[in-house]
Amino acid sequence: MPLEVEKIRKDFPILSTVTNGKPLVYLDSAATSQKPRQVINAVSKHYRKNNANIHRGIYKLAEDATAQYIKSKETVARFVGAESYRNVVYFRSTTEAINAVARAWGDANVGKGDRVLITEMEHHSNIVPWQMLAKRKGAVLDYAKLADGKFINREDFAAKLAMRPKIVAFAHVSNVLGTINNAAEMTKLAHEAGATVLIDGAQAVPHMPINLSEIGADFYAFSGHKMLGPSGIGVLYGQEEILDAMEPFHGGGDMIRSVDFQESTWNELPWKFEAGTQNIEGAIGLMAAVKYLKKLGMENVREHEKTLTSYALDKLGEAGVTVYGPDKTEIDRRAGVIAFSMKDAHAHDIAQILDSEGVAIRSGHHCAMPLVTKILNEPAVPRMSFYIYNTHAEIDTAVAALGKVKEVLRISS
Ligand code: PLP
Repeated sequence: MPLEVEKIRKDFPILSTVTNGKPLVYLDSAATSQKPRQVINAVSKHYRKNNANIHRGIYKLAEDATAQYIKSKETVARFVGAESYRNVVYFRSTTEAINAVARAWGDANVGKGDRVLITEMEHHSNIVPWQMLAKRKGAVLDYAKLADGKFINREDFAAKLAMRPKIVAFAHVSNVLGTINNAAEMTKLAHEAGATVLIDGAQAVPHMPINLSEIGADFYAFSGHKMLGPSGIGVLYGQEEILDAMEPFHGGGDMIRSVDFQESTWNELPWKFEAGTQNIEGAIGLMAAVKYLKKLGMENVREHEKTLTSYALDKLGEAGVTVYGPDKTEIDRRAGVIAFSMKDAHAHDIAQILDSEGVAIRSGHHCAMPLVTKILNEPAVPRMSFYIYNTHAEIDTAVAALGKVKEVLRISS
């Protein structure tokens, strides 16, 4: 069913604001999504009526807050096809979730000379924690190469798997190329090679149906703020036996069963990984965000973004810019993220001129410096990205603004 975009837009207060004297055209949802009033209201209601610390009080307010926090995890677990709320650990973000695995799982399972395999299309949050682990342990960090600057090269991936890495970590969807990786197939191959698998789902969960039981990864991480929820709340899904065997990442209140002067024992899942007071309002907001997306239907969300992306690829092609990532014929393997470049125009100039027309896009290396600077061979690229509230007319506005870039910078073709 097509999304009722005009109705959806009315739920997002920021979309009726003006920037630089022009109606805001927000094309940077890959960085962070905007928030509907349902999420804003849920957070505000929590503060106004339900605020108390969780797990601690024996009074009703605290018990209700605890129940809502658990309900949030149950809602998230059902949304992504996880077995139970016990498999859902809340951290600050995808970044913190990956750091937790690299530290807590990595330190116990990766040793000198062992291999860690990632890919050339990763975000820094799925590179740097593995570099740090490799340095701590004397392990080797390998990268699966890209084919045509778009997809993971299958032969190279197989060859790197043959070196029997301890862990394979890859993005489900690239935040620069928009490439959708075949997460289930890559997980199966990595498991056959004896590796543990972590998937960075930051750009996938907000935009398409995700069923973790079909994908089969050991760990899967994503961020609330990219899927209509608040900042400061991210999810680490983990398979139960792995989480059970894993040491905690943080120590402190609530994650313990008992504490003595020298030793402590750990709480049950998922609390063992959540030390100290948690982002309770973030969990409440994330639950509201998931309910909002569920009501729209993730198949419909994906279809809407596919249509917008196809349209934008056509229009950008007509405007004569170079687009990175899968082309229109490969749309089934492409999400609503389009990085591009324009001859004789610096990425930052493009973003600045579009901003003057009310169009918000991101420009830079998108926290994927190896990919942007070494594979795309650019110091920076502009990127537009779409979500449930974007329209064809907004893409027209953005492409028309690219005309202004040519005018201002006196680019002839
Ligand atoms: N992974 C990918 C593919 C991303 O696009 C991002 C954010 O842009 C992240 C990880 C990091 O997300 P966060 O900043 O919420 O930790």
